[in-house]
Amino acid sequence: MIGERIKVRIRCRQCGERFVLRGRREKDKVETGFKMCLCNNRDDFEVDYDV
Ligand SMILES: [Zn+2]
Repeated sequence: MIGERIKVRIRCRQCGERFVLRGRREKDKVETGFKMCLCNNRDDFEVDYDV
């Protein structure tokens, strides 16, 4: 459902740091506002959603 709040788990593939965020489901992605890791990685993440 669009606009639904879901929990998002992000793991950085560069340094292994994990983040747990609240996201909002959109049409073809989940918006979390997450920009980058502490290690400046912006692109290389594993992302898991609660469905
Ligand atoms: Zn990192």
